[in-house]
Amino acid sequence: MIEIENVRKSFSSLEVLKGINLTVDKGEVVTIIGGSGSGKSTLLTCINGLEPIDSGRIRIDGTDVHAKGTDLNKLRRKVGIVFQQWNAFPHLTVLENVMLAPRKVLGLAKDKAEEIAVKQLTHVGLAEKLKVYPNRMSGGQQQRMAIARALAMSPEYMLFDEVTSALDPMLVGEVLDTLKMLAEEGMTMICVTHEMAFARDVSDRVAFFHQGVMAEIGTPDQIFAMPQNAETQKFLASVR
Ligand code: ADP
Ligand code: MG
Repeated sequence: MIEIENVRKSFSSLEVLKGINLTVDKGEVVTIIGGSGSGKSTLLTCINGLEPIDSGRIRIDGTDVHAKGTDLNKLRRKVGIVFQQWNAFPHLTVLENVMLAPRKVLGLAKDKAEEIAVKQLTHVGLAEKLKVYPNRMSGGQQQRMAIARALAMSPEYMLFDEVTSALDPMLVGEVLDTLKMLAEEGMTMICVTHEMAFARDVSDRVAFFHQGVMAEIGTPDQIFAMPQNAETQKFLASVR
């Protein structure tokens, strides 16, 4: 379970998160929507300890992410994150790229790391691309490789930050299908997305962020069919 309690964070004088509260249960899919600069990415980086917070608390299965003694490396194995773009090592094949973290971070033997990498690349539909170099693949394939790379660490939670935003429209669907598959398999995930149809389709709950505040949260039906907050209504009107 991910528990976010009254989290505040500023970058110098700019308060970016103004008291965020959110609990994500095991197996739940929460999507975060909202305008640019509303604090969505910052929240994700706080959840896996890439950014410190100013006050409040974030706990993952009871472990306080920002407490002094917390082993952040261990925590990050549990909480995978995939960004808009991941720069793979160009001189390594797709398989070698995905094997890297299991080898270096988990300290697995080559055979075992390869087995895991093949399994995850197959899972995201890239079984034919093992020996290919990353820049030989489409943007959608590269994003699926990035997802396989995160999955190779056997995370219990996944955070996705606009993983389709840098893609040609034609390639968005294959990546969203991969996320949907993970959701259906029961992965606990938080997805920041601009893809409203996707949010509506896969989410257990949708959260709308506005200027550092979680202005509204509810089921997809509540948020998309009957938004209560004026800012949510404005935002949805602007993206439709
Ligand atoms: P979103 O993902 O919703 O577009 P972000 O969380 O990236 O928003 O950013 C929220 C605000 O914080 C923006 O105004 C952004 O410019 C600012 N910001 C984000 N990261 C940093 C940083 N490392 N240093 C300073 N300001 C930042
Ligand atoms: Mg962002």
